[in-house]
Amino acid sequence: MSTTPVYPARAIVDLDAIRDNVRALRSTAGSAQVMGVVKADAYGHGLAPAARAALAGGATWLGAAQTREALAVRAAVGPGPRVLTWLYSPGAPFADLVREDVDVAVAGAWALDELADAARAVGRAARVHLKVDTGLGRNGIMPGDLPAVLDRATALQSEGALTVVGVMSHYALADEPDDPSVKMQTHAFDEAVRAVEAAGLPIEVRHIANSAATLTNPAAHYDLVRPGIAVYGLSPVPQLAVPGDHGLRPAMTLEARLATVKRVPAGHGVSYGHAYTTTQDTVLGVIPLGYGDGIPRHASGGSLGPGGPVLVGGGVDDVAAPDAGLGTARVLRIAGRVCMDQVVIDLGPYAPEQAGDVVTLFGASDGLTRAGAPNAEDWAQAAGTISYEIVTRLGARVPRVYV
Ligand code: PLP
Repeated sequence: MSTTPVYPARAIVDLDAIRDNVRALRSTAGSAQVMGVVKADAYGHGLAPAARAALAGGATWLGAAQTREALAVRAAVGPGPRVLTWLYSPGAPFADLVREDVDVAVAGAWALDELADAARAVGRAARVHLKVDTGLGRNGIMPGDLPAVLDRATALQSEGALTVVGVMSHYALADEPDDPSVKMQTHAFDEAVRAVEAAGLPIEVRHIANSAATLTNPAAHYDLVRPGIAVYGLSPVPQLAVPGDHGLRPAMTLEARLATVKRVPAGHGVSYGHAYTTTQDTVLGVIPLGYGDGIPRHASGGSLGPGGPVLVGGGVDDVAAPDAGLGTARVLRIAGRVCMDQVVIDLGPYAPEQAGDVVTLFGASDGLTRAGAPNAEDWAQAAGTISYEIVTRLGARVPRVYV
Protein backbone atom coordinates (compact mmCIF):
# COMPACT_ATOMS: atom_id res chain seq x y z
CA MET A 1 0.00 0.00 0.00
CA SER A 2 1.31 3.45 -0.87
CA THR A 3 2.38 5.59 2.06
CA THR A 4 2.25 8.80 0.03
CA PRO A 5 -0.28 11.04 1.75
CA VAL A 6 -3.18 12.26 -0.36
CA TYR A 7 -3.70 15.92 0.42
CA PRO A 8 -6.91 17.79 -0.42
CA ALA A 9 -4.62 20.60 -1.55
CA ARG A 10 -0.88 21.06 -1.71
CA ALA A 11 1.76 23.48 -2.89
CA ILE A 12 4.41 21.67 -4.85
CA VAL A 13 7.73 23.48 -4.56
CA ASP A 14 10.34 22.72 -7.18
CA LEU A 15 13.65 23.23 -5.40
CA ASP A 16 15.60 22.76 -8.64
CA ALA A 17 13.76 25.79 -9.99
CA ILE A 18 14.92 27.84 -7.00
CA ARG A 19 18.48 26.60 -7.47
CA ASP A 20 18.40 27.30 -11.22
CA ASN A 21 16.83 30.73 -10.72
CA VAL A 22 19.66 31.71 -8.38
CA ARG A 23 22.16 30.42 -10.93
CA ALA A 24 20.54 32.61 -13.56
CA LEU A 25 20.53 35.60 -11.21
CA ARG A 26 24.20 35.03 -10.47
CA SER A 27 25.02 35.24 -14.13
CA THR A 28 22.87 38.39 -14.49
CA ALA A 29 24.63 39.93 -11.49
CA GLY A 30 28.06 39.62 -13.09
CA SER A 31 30.75 40.08 -10.49
CA ALA A 32 28.30 40.93 -7.71
CA GLN A 33 27.47 38.26 -5.13
CA VAL A 34 23.87 37.11 -4.71
CA MET A 35 21.87 37.19 -1.50
CA GLY A 36 18.83 34.93 -1.68
CA VAL A 37 16.07 36.72 0.22
CA VAL A 38 14.14 34.11 2.19
CA LYS A 39 12.01 36.26 4.49
CA ALA A 40 8.34 35.42 5.12
CA ASP A 41 9.02 31.70 4.93
CA ALA A 42 10.82 32.21 1.64
CA TYR A 43 7.82 34.01 0.15
CA GLY A 44 5.68 31.06 1.21
CA HIS A 45 7.93 28.41 -0.32
CA GLY A 46 9.45 27.17 2.96
CA LEU A 47 12.40 28.89 4.58
CA ALA A 48 14.83 26.04 5.20
CA PRO A 49 14.51 24.12 1.91
CA ALA A 50 14.48 27.34 -0.10
CA ALA A 51 17.55 28.67 1.72
CA ARG A 52 19.47 25.48 0.99
CA ALA A 53 18.36 25.49 -2.66
CA ALA A 54 19.49 29.10 -3.02
CA LEU A 55 22.92 28.17 -1.69
CA ALA A 56 23.05 25.25 -4.12
CA GLY A 57 22.47 27.78 -6.90
CA GLY A 58 25.43 29.85 -5.78
CA ALA A 59 24.00 32.39 -3.37
CA THR A 60 26.69 33.33 -0.86
CA TRP A 61 24.35 35.36 1.32
CA LEU A 62 20.84 34.77 2.66
CA GLY A 63 18.61 37.61 3.80
CA ALA A 64 15.62 37.75 6.12
CA ALA A 65 13.71 40.72 7.48
CA GLN A 66 13.05 39.44 10.99
CA THR A 67 15.64 38.31 13.52
CA ARG A 68 13.73 35.10 14.24
CA GLU A 69 13.80 34.25 10.56
CA ALA A 70 17.52 34.97 10.37
CA LEU A 71 18.20 32.63 13.28
CA ALA A 72 16.08 29.96 11.59
CA VAL A 73 18.11 30.44 8.41
CA ARG A 74 21.34 29.93 10.32
CA ALA A 75 19.94 26.79 11.95
CA ALA A 76 18.91 25.50 8.52
CA VAL A 77 22.15 26.12 6.67
CA GLY A 78 24.76 25.82 9.42
CA PRO A 79 27.89 27.93 9.73
CA GLY A 80 29.49 29.51 6.72
CA PRO A 81 27.03 31.34 4.48
CA ARG A 82 26.52 34.97 5.42
CA VAL A 83 23.09 35.77 6.82
CA LEU A 84 21.65 39.28 7.14
CA THR A 85 18.63 40.56 9.09
CA TRP A 86 17.23 44.10 8.83
CA LEU A 87 14.01 44.69 10.72
CA TYR A 88 13.52 44.60 14.48
CA SER A 89 12.65 46.78 17.44
CA PRO A 90 14.52 47.61 20.66
CA GLY A 91 15.07 44.50 22.76
CA ALA A 92 15.77 42.28 19.73
CA PRO A 93 17.82 39.13 20.45
CA PHE A 94 21.09 40.77 19.42
CA ALA A 95 23.24 38.42 21.53
CA ASP A 96 21.79 35.41 19.69
CA LEU A 97 22.44 37.10 16.37
CA VAL A 98 26.05 37.85 17.24
CA ARG A 99 26.58 34.35 18.63
CA GLU A 100 25.06 32.82 15.48
CA ASP A 101 27.19 34.98 13.24
CA VAL A 102 24.27 36.87 11.70
CA ASP A 103 25.00 40.27 10.16
CA VAL A 104 22.63 43.01 11.32
CA ALA A 105 21.49 46.03 9.33
CA VAL A 106 21.20 49.13 11.47
CA ALA A 107 18.82 52.02 10.82
CA GLY A 108 19.48 54.11 13.93
CA ALA A 109 22.07 54.81 16.64
CA TRP A 110 20.06 52.99 19.34
CA ALA A 111 20.57 49.73 17.48
CA LEU A 112 24.34 50.28 17.39
CA ASP A 113 24.34 50.61 21.17
CA GLU A 114 22.18 47.55 21.81
CA LEU A 115 24.25 45.54 19.35
CA ALA A 116 27.50 46.66 20.96
CA ASP A 117 26.19 45.65 24.42
CA ALA A 118 25.35 42.21 23.02
CA ALA A 119 28.73 41.92 21.33
CA ARG A 120 30.55 42.71 24.58
CA ALA A 121 28.48 40.07 26.39
CA VAL A 122 29.15 37.43 23.74
CA GLY A 123 32.78 38.43 23.40
CA ARG A 124 32.85 38.92 19.68
CA ALA A 125 32.40 41.90 17.36
CA ALA A 126 29.01 42.33 15.69
CA ARG A 127 28.94 42.76 11.91
CA VAL A 128 26.90 45.78 10.88
CA HIS A 129 25.40 47.07 7.64
CA LEU A 130 24.32 50.69 7.71
CA LYS A 131 20.87 50.88 6.14
CA VAL A 132 20.35 54.27 4.56
CA ASP A 133 17.06 55.81 3.45
CA THR A 134 17.99 57.10 0.00
CA GLY A 135 14.37 57.88 -0.85
CA LEU A 136 12.17 54.89 -0.07
CA GLY A 137 10.83 56.60 3.02
CA ARG A 138 10.79 53.45 5.07
CA ASN A 139 13.26 51.85 7.48
CA GLY A 140 16.70 53.44 7.12
CA ILE A 141 18.98 56.25 8.32
CA MET A 142 18.13 59.64 6.80
CA PRO A 143 21.25 61.08 5.09
CA GLY A 144 21.14 64.06 7.48
CA ASP A 145 21.34 61.68 10.46
CA LEU A 146 24.22 59.68 9.01
CA PRO A 147 27.07 61.78 10.48
CA ALA A 148 25.83 61.20 14.06
CA VAL A 149 25.40 57.47 13.41
CA LEU A 150 28.89 57.34 11.89
CA ASP A 151 30.37 59.05 14.97
CA ARG A 152 28.83 56.37 17.16
CA ALA A 153 29.80 53.55 14.78
CA THR A 154 33.45 54.62 14.53
CA ALA A 155 33.71 54.86 18.33
CA LEU A 156 32.23 51.38 18.80
CA GLN A 157 34.32 49.94 15.98
CA SER A 158 37.58 51.27 17.45
CA GLU A 159 36.55 49.74 20.77
CA GLY A 160 36.17 46.39 18.97
CA ALA A 161 32.45 45.96 19.69
CA LEU A 162 31.40 46.03 16.07
CA THR A 163 32.62 46.14 12.50
CA VAL A 164 30.77 48.04 9.81
CA VAL A 165 30.95 45.74 6.79
CA GLY A 166 28.19 47.03 4.57
CA VAL A 167 26.12 49.94 3.36
CA MET A 168 22.69 49.13 2.01
CA SER A 169 19.53 50.77 0.75
CA HIS A 170 16.33 49.86 -1.07
CA TYR A 171 14.59 51.41 -4.11
CA ALA A 172 11.04 52.75 -4.08
CA LEU A 173 10.44 52.22 -7.81
CA ALA A 174 12.93 49.58 -8.94
CA ASP A 175 10.17 48.07 -11.09
CA GLU A 176 10.06 51.33 -13.07
CA PRO A 177 13.75 51.66 -13.93
CA ASP A 178 13.22 54.84 -15.96
CA ASP A 179 11.61 56.69 -13.10
CA PRO A 180 13.88 59.60 -12.08
CA SER A 181 13.75 58.46 -8.46
CA VAL A 182 15.89 55.44 -9.33
CA LYS A 183 18.82 57.61 -10.45
CA MET A 184 18.29 59.97 -7.51
CA GLN A 185 18.39 57.09 -5.04
CA THR A 186 21.49 55.62 -6.68
CA HIS A 187 23.19 59.01 -6.38
CA ALA A 188 22.18 59.34 -2.72
CA PHE A 189 23.49 55.82 -2.13
CA ASP A 190 26.87 56.71 -3.64
CA GLU A 191 27.03 59.75 -1.37
CA ALA A 192 26.25 57.66 1.69
CA VAL A 193 28.97 55.16 0.74
CA ARG A 194 31.45 58.02 0.36
CA ALA A 195 30.49 59.41 3.78
CA VAL A 196 31.01 56.02 5.44
CA GLU A 197 34.39 55.58 3.78
CA ALA A 198 35.39 59.14 4.68
CA ALA A 199 34.64 58.28 8.32
CA GLY A 200 37.40 55.68 8.08
CA LEU A 201 35.14 52.64 7.83
CA PRO A 202 36.19 50.39 4.94
CA ILE A 203 33.19 48.67 3.38
CA GLU A 204 33.07 45.07 2.25
CA VAL A 205 29.69 45.14 0.47
CA ARG A 206 27.50 47.89 -0.97
CA HIS A 207 24.00 46.66 -1.85
CA ILE A 208 20.76 48.20 -3.03
CA ALA A 209 19.32 45.94 -5.76
CA ASN A 210 16.17 43.87 -5.25
CA SER A 211 14.89 41.57 -8.03
CA ALA A 212 13.72 44.35 -10.31
CA ALA A 213 17.01 46.25 -10.05
CA THR A 214 18.99 43.03 -10.45
CA LEU A 215 17.14 42.20 -13.67
CA THR A 216 16.85 45.65 -15.20
CA ASN A 217 19.56 47.92 -13.82
CA PRO A 218 23.20 46.72 -13.92
CA ALA A 219 24.34 50.06 -12.47
CA ALA A 220 22.61 49.03 -9.24
CA HIS A 221 24.44 45.75 -8.78
CA TYR A 222 27.41 47.06 -6.75
CA ASP A 223 29.00 44.22 -4.70
CA LEU A 224 25.89 42.27 -3.80
CA VAL A 225 22.33 41.96 -5.11
CA ARG A 226 19.35 40.98 -2.95
CA PRO A 227 16.70 39.32 -5.12
CA GLY A 228 13.63 37.84 -3.47
CA ILE A 229 10.68 37.30 -5.81
CA ALA A 230 12.91 36.38 -8.77
CA VAL A 231 14.47 33.56 -6.73
CA TYR A 232 11.01 31.99 -6.79
CA GLY A 233 10.68 32.55 -10.54
CA LEU A 234 8.06 35.27 -10.35
CA SER A 235 8.31 38.65 -11.94
CA PRO A 236 8.92 41.83 -9.96
CA VAL A 237 7.60 43.74 -12.97
CA PRO A 238 3.87 43.13 -13.46
CA GLN A 239 3.99 43.53 -17.26
CA LEU A 240 6.38 40.59 -17.42
CA ALA A 241 4.19 37.76 -16.19
CA VAL A 242 6.76 35.00 -16.42
CA PRO A 243 10.34 36.22 -16.46
CA GLY A 244 11.44 33.38 -18.73
CA ASP A 245 13.54 35.86 -20.71
CA HIS A 246 15.78 36.03 -17.69
CA GLY A 247 16.03 32.27 -17.42
CA LEU A 248 13.70 32.13 -14.43
CA ARG A 249 10.81 29.75 -13.85
CA PRO A 250 8.13 29.72 -11.15
CA ALA A 251 8.93 27.33 -8.34
CA MET A 252 5.46 26.78 -6.92
CA THR A 253 2.39 24.92 -8.18
CA LEU A 254 -0.80 25.12 -6.15
CA GLU A 255 -3.18 22.25 -6.78
CA ALA A 256 -6.19 20.69 -5.11
CA ARG A 257 -8.44 17.69 -5.47
CA LEU A 258 -12.10 18.43 -6.08
CA ALA A 259 -13.98 17.70 -2.87
CA THR A 260 -17.44 17.58 -4.40
CA VAL A 261 -18.71 17.41 -7.96
CA LYS A 262 -22.48 17.73 -8.33
CA ARG A 263 -25.16 18.49 -10.87
CA VAL A 264 -27.34 21.57 -10.23
CA PRO A 265 -30.18 23.18 -12.18
CA ALA A 266 -30.11 26.52 -14.01
CA GLY A 267 -30.70 29.46 -11.70
CA HIS A 268 -28.84 27.91 -8.77
CA GLY A 269 -27.12 30.50 -6.56
CA VAL A 270 -23.53 29.68 -5.68
CA SER A 271 -21.75 30.45 -2.41
CA TYR A 272 -22.38 33.28 0.11
CA GLY A 273 -24.34 36.18 -1.26
CA HIS A 274 -25.15 34.32 -4.50
CA ALA A 275 -22.69 36.47 -6.44
CA TYR A 276 -22.83 33.78 -9.12
CA THR A 277 -25.93 32.04 -10.41
CA THR A 278 -25.85 29.17 -12.89
CA THR A 279 -27.26 29.99 -16.29
CA GLN A 280 -27.96 26.39 -17.35
CA ASP A 281 -28.14 22.90 -15.87
CA THR A 282 -24.54 22.38 -15.00
CA VAL A 283 -21.94 20.68 -12.83
CA LEU A 284 -20.31 22.48 -9.90
CA GLY A 285 -16.95 21.52 -8.45
CA VAL A 286 -15.88 22.40 -4.93
CA ILE A 287 -12.16 23.14 -4.39
CA PRO A 288 -11.04 22.66 -0.77
CA LEU A 289 -9.08 25.91 -0.53
CA GLY A 290 -10.26 29.28 0.73
CA TYR A 291 -9.15 32.49 2.38
CA GLY A 292 -8.18 30.43 5.43
CA ASP A 293 -5.46 29.05 3.18
CA GLY A 294 -4.51 32.43 1.77
CA ILE A 295 -6.70 32.42 -1.33
CA PRO A 296 -7.58 36.11 -1.66
CA ARG A 297 -11.26 36.88 -1.14
CA HIS A 298 -10.79 39.63 -3.71
CA ALA A 299 -10.43 36.85 -6.29
CA SER A 300 -14.13 36.04 -5.91
CA GLY A 301 -16.03 35.70 -9.19
CA GLY A 302 -19.47 36.20 -10.65
CA SER A 303 -20.78 39.71 -10.03
CA LEU A 304 -17.76 40.42 -7.81
CA GLY A 305 -15.05 40.25 -10.47
CA PRO A 306 -13.41 37.95 -12.96
CA GLY A 307 -12.62 35.31 -10.33
CA GLY A 308 -9.30 33.57 -9.84
CA PRO A 309 -8.40 31.16 -12.65
CA VAL A 310 -8.22 27.38 -12.23
CA LEU A 311 -6.88 24.81 -14.67
CA VAL A 312 -9.24 21.85 -14.86
CA GLY A 313 -9.03 18.59 -16.71
CA GLY A 314 -5.29 18.25 -16.86
CA GLY A 315 -2.45 18.47 -14.42
CA VAL A 316 0.73 20.37 -15.09
CA ASP A 317 2.29 17.36 -16.79
CA ASP A 318 -0.58 17.03 -19.26
CA VAL A 319 0.07 20.44 -20.76
CA ALA A 320 3.79 20.76 -20.20
CA ALA A 321 4.79 21.14 -23.84
CA PRO A 322 4.91 24.85 -24.71
CA ASP A 323 3.10 24.47 -28.02
CA ALA A 324 0.71 21.76 -26.93
CA GLY A 325 -2.06 24.17 -26.06
CA LEU A 326 -4.31 23.13 -23.23
CA GLY A 327 -5.30 19.80 -24.76
CA THR A 328 -8.31 18.52 -22.89
CA ALA A 329 -7.67 20.98 -20.08
CA ARG A 330 -9.56 24.23 -19.67
CA VAL A 331 -9.19 27.32 -17.55
CA LEU A 332 -12.25 28.21 -15.49
CA ARG A 333 -12.88 31.07 -13.07
CA ILE A 334 -13.97 30.98 -9.45
CA ALA A 335 -17.77 31.18 -9.33
CA GLY A 336 -19.03 33.42 -6.54
CA ARG A 337 -17.42 34.21 -3.24
CA VAL A 338 -14.18 32.76 -1.94
CA CYS A 339 -15.09 31.24 1.45
CA MET A 340 -12.81 30.42 4.36
CA ASP A 341 -12.23 26.80 3.33
CA GLN A 342 -13.60 26.39 -0.15
CA VAL A 343 -14.29 27.89 -3.53
CA VAL A 344 -16.61 26.71 -6.29
CA ILE A 345 -16.15 26.45 -10.03
CA ASP A 346 -18.77 25.88 -12.69
CA LEU A 347 -17.46 22.90 -14.65
CA GLY A 348 -20.14 23.12 -17.36
CA PRO A 349 -22.93 20.70 -18.30
CA TYR A 350 -20.74 18.01 -19.84
CA ALA A 351 -18.04 17.92 -17.18
CA PRO A 352 -16.23 14.62 -17.07
CA GLU A 353 -14.68 15.52 -13.69
CA GLN A 354 -15.22 13.55 -10.53
CA ALA A 355 -14.48 14.18 -6.88
CA GLY A 356 -10.78 13.63 -6.33
CA ASP A 357 -9.71 15.00 -9.73
CA VAL A 358 -6.82 17.43 -9.55
CA VAL A 359 -7.22 21.10 -10.45
CA THR A 360 -4.35 23.57 -10.63
CA LEU A 361 -4.78 27.12 -9.35
CA PHE A 362 -1.37 28.20 -10.53
CA GLY A 363 1.41 26.23 -12.06
CA ALA A 364 5.12 26.10 -12.05
CA SER A 365 5.75 24.89 -15.55
CA ASP A 366 6.95 27.51 -17.96
CA GLY A 367 5.41 25.50 -20.80
CA LEU A 368 2.12 25.47 -19.00
CA THR A 369 2.08 29.19 -18.45
CA ARG A 370 2.91 29.85 -22.08
CA ALA A 371 0.06 27.59 -23.07
CA GLY A 372 -2.28 30.00 -21.32
CA ALA A 373 -2.87 28.21 -18.03
CA PRO A 374 -2.82 30.28 -14.86
CA ASN A 375 0.18 31.53 -12.95
CA ALA A 376 0.49 33.48 -9.71
CA GLU A 377 0.46 36.74 -11.67
CA ASP A 378 -2.96 35.86 -13.14
CA TRP A 379 -4.22 35.35 -9.60
CA ALA A 380 -2.70 38.65 -8.59
CA GLN A 381 -4.57 40.39 -11.37
CA ALA A 382 -7.86 38.73 -10.45
CA ALA A 383 -7.39 39.81 -6.84
CA GLY A 384 -6.01 43.32 -7.51
CA THR A 385 -2.69 42.57 -5.86
CA ILE A 386 0.83 41.42 -6.72
CA SER A 387 2.19 37.91 -7.18
CA TYR A 388 4.34 38.41 -4.08
CA GLU A 389 1.20 38.40 -1.98
CA ILE A 390 -0.33 35.38 -3.71
CA VAL A 391 2.52 33.05 -2.82
CA THR A 392 3.54 34.65 0.48
CA ARG A 393 0.12 34.51 2.10
CA LEU A 394 -0.46 30.88 1.26
CA GLY A 395 -1.27 29.54 4.70
CA ALA A 396 0.37 26.95 6.91
CA ARG A 397 -2.69 24.73 6.33
CA VAL A 398 -1.49 24.03 2.79
CA PRO A 399 1.24 21.39 2.94
CA ARG A 400 4.37 22.18 0.98
CA VAL A 401 5.61 19.20 -0.95
CA TYR A 402 9.16 19.42 -2.21
CA VAL A 403 10.25 17.95 -5.51
N1 PLP B 1 15.96 43.64 0.20
C1 PLP B 1 15.13 44.13 1.12
C2 PLP B 1 15.65 45.02 2.19
C3 PLP B 1 13.76 43.82 1.07
O1 PLP B 1 12.92 44.30 2.00
C4 PLP B 1 13.30 42.98 0.03
C5 PLP B 1 11.87 42.66 -0.08
O2 PLP B 1 11.02 43.49 -0.08
C6 PLP B 1 14.20 42.48 -0.91
C7 PLP B 1 15.54 42.83 -0.80
C8 PLP B 1 13.77 41.60 -2.05
O3 PLP B 1 12.84 42.26 -2.87
P1 PLP B 1 12.24 41.55 -4.17
O4 PLP B 1 11.41 40.41 -3.67
O5 PLP B 1 11.42 42.60 -4.82
O6 PLP B 1 13.37 41.09 -4.97
